[in-house]
Amino acid sequence: MCGIIGILGTNNASAELYTGLFAIQHRGQNGAGMYTSEGKDSVLKKDKGLIGEVFDESILEELEGSNGIGHVRYPTIGSNVEQDAQPFKIENPIEMGMAHNGNIVNYREMVEKYDLDLKSTCDLELILHVFAKELEKESEIDENALFVAAERTMDNLNGSYSVVTLIPGLGLFTFRDPRGIRPMVFGKKVNLDGTSFGVASENTVLDILGYKVLREVLPGEAILIKEDKSYQARQLKNEKTNHCMFEWVYFARPDSTIERINVYEARFRLGRELAKEWQKKNKKLDVVIPVPDTARTIALALAEELDLPYREGLLRNRYVGRTFIMPDQTSRETAVKTKLNPIIEEVKGKKIGLVDDSIVRGTTSKKLIKLMKNCNAEEVHFLVGCPPIVSPCYYGIDIPTQEELIAANRSIREIKKEIGADSLTYQNIDGLVKGIAKKKDQLCLACLDKEYPTKVREDIRDYFENMRRKERETVEGKKN
Ligand code: AMP
Repeated sequence: MCGIIGILGTNNASAELYTGLFAIQHRGQNGAGMYTSEGKDSVLKKDKGLIGEVFDESILEELEGSNGIGHVRYPTIGSNVEQDAQPFKIENPIEMGMAHNGNIVNYREMVEKYDLDLKSTCDLELILHVFAKELEKESEIDENALFVAAERTMDNLNGSYSVVTLIPGLGLFTFRDPRGIRPMVFGKKVNLDGTSFGVASENTVLDILGYKVLREVLPGEAILIKEDKSYQARQLKNEKTNHCMFEWVYFARPDSTIERINVYEARFRLGRELAKEWQKKNKKLDVVIPVPDTARTIALALAEELDLPYREGLLRNRYVGRTFIMPDQTSRETAVKTKLNPIIEEVKGKKIGLVDDSIVRGTTSKKLIKLMKNCNAEEVHFLVGCPPIVSPCYYGIDIPTQEELIAANRSIREIKKEIGADSLTYQNIDGLVKGIAKKKDQLCLACLDKEYPTKVREDIRDYFENMRRKERETVEGKKN
């Protein structure tokens, strides 16, 4: 998962991008970058690390221009190195910089088909080259050619991609995969300085920067916003949409609204639905405690529904990043310990309902249950806002290999035993869908029901598994 922003026509694009990227730092903590332009002049700066580490005042000053795109990176596939940081830029057939959020499933096939010699393992480099090759086929590179090239790019790519492109001297060009798997919104700001446009992964970016959100960039749509501030949108593909359910469950900010569903409200409903599952168990709890931060809303709604006290029993150290962003198991385990510390008085002698948004590998739940038991909790019942995650994600979320997923080959009873809980209650798929308040067939639930919205061939699944396994071994090898 990554975060993207595009800005056109403001006084100082890098200042807005800097503020905007902070608003989506949660979408990726591994690398950050900006590409800005004024007329035909452009500047690209990117590196590994957090926004605050990659950019300082002098770098921002170098990033001149009233237009720009920005990116925060979260690696799923591909190694964790500088050359994979985005945006990427190309000089032919015209200069342009590009950033994206998503993951391309048919990466190898495309590299072969277009005979590409890529310098990184980042699939954005692939998207950029496919788009550029398609653009090159046009006799004249004008506005129409951009849409034609985007449509052919969509014809060829299989996967998820919300893309933002800056073409110096021309404008901002953005497109979103036909399934709309990853989010992207489009907004406008009018003030005394004039009119500017923005696109971003989450509407909160635009809200914070004072842009009015006009609408989502539609699945299969491309929008060109020109330097003269006129814009045109074309619906290039019209397919069934499949928005990733995990945006509402875990990934997006609670104050964001995705596809017209506010994330906080969705999490609240998930808590209510989860309470219904718990009620079937006929067990007693003294208190509901969330695993901070994401699960707070789910736990709050659950406690309200069950008429139980809600308490903060785990203190989150806000200076430690999201557990998953750590690229290997060893650092992930250390991170859980340094990140969450129990408030013993809230735990001791109690029957606890510990609520988390999801269980992926089981690392967090296992550690926290042990921690609570060490603080003399009488019982720890684990409740999960998301149904069992049984299959990898090929569309950009770090939901890894079958062998790493705790629910892939275990029954709920076995998972309960493995994580050391007194009971384990999962949301069911209907409860999840009700909570998100979209129709089931509008969502991508592939990690829960193995129904991938695009074709993921068996050999591609094996390739991803092997690649992830190799990456894990490399990282773990380096540590030993
Ligand atoms: P795990 O410890 O592997 O079972 O992962 C579950 C924990 O990580 C939960 O506390 C979630 O809030 C968080 N989480 C779940 N999925 C992801 C993800 N794809 N990226 C980052 N964090 C995640």
